[in-house]
Amino acid sequence: TCTAEDLVRALRAVAAAVADHRAELTELDRVIGDADHGENLRRGFLAVVTKVDSADLDTPTAVLKAVGTTLISTVGGASGPLYGTAFLRAANAVTEKSEVDGPAAAEALRAALGGVVARGRAEIGDKTMVDALSPAVDAAVAAAEAGGDVAAVLAAAAEAADRGAESTTPLVARKGRASYLGERSAGHLDPGARSTALILRALASSAG
Ligand code: ADP
Ligand code: MG
Ligand code: MG
Repeated sequence: TCTAEDLVRALRAVAAAVADHRAELTELDRVIGDADHGENLRRGFLAVVTKVDSADLDTPTAVLKAVGTTLISTVGGASGPLYGTAFLRAANAVTEKSEVDGPAAAEALRAALGGVVARGRAEIGDKTMVDALSPAVDAAVAAAEAGGDVAAVLAAAAEAADRGAESTTPLVARKGRASYLGERSAGHLDPGARSTALILRALASSAG
């Protein structure tokens, strides 16, 4: 299971991963966007770490809520409100729980995807973070149904998100800035799908 304390540790791992991959994410966004995705997320998750360190957050839902509000107020761009909403929905999915188990982790990911879709209206195949997050949710739910714990659920999600992110390369973008490029967006990995895979990988590594 995952306590509030475990979650704060996992968020530190996410912030470190995002900082390590800042240049890569920005380069992906330079090709089909406006070259700010790495810096947007680095700034956001740095603020998240500062926030969760300074506040007294003793439940997973309180931590996730703080992450969501911090990302919305610090990341900006398209991805800020999308990731922010994802964490706020995940927070709502685990209210009243002092520890998150495998099924609850899968449920939180499912809720996160619901938030991204409600906010951004992207479908699978639109070349967005949804192409990484949606297969991750399916894999997480399957792992939880098979009796997997949080580490197993997140490992399955991260694996599926990696493949989902890679699947965006040939696609033509239909949402976000990359869609302005039309056919020219094809042949390039989507930065948001890549960052979703990175974030899930960092969460999985911290849990396992
Ligand atoms: P911006 O494009 O505003 O500069 P970022 O560079 O931080 O914002 O994030 C870009 C990423 O946001 C894209 O690569 C894509 O994955 C994601 N994105 C953009 N619009 C949407 C949407 N409507 N639904 C889901 N994801 C989206
Ligand atoms: Mg951008
Ligand atoms: Mg921008």
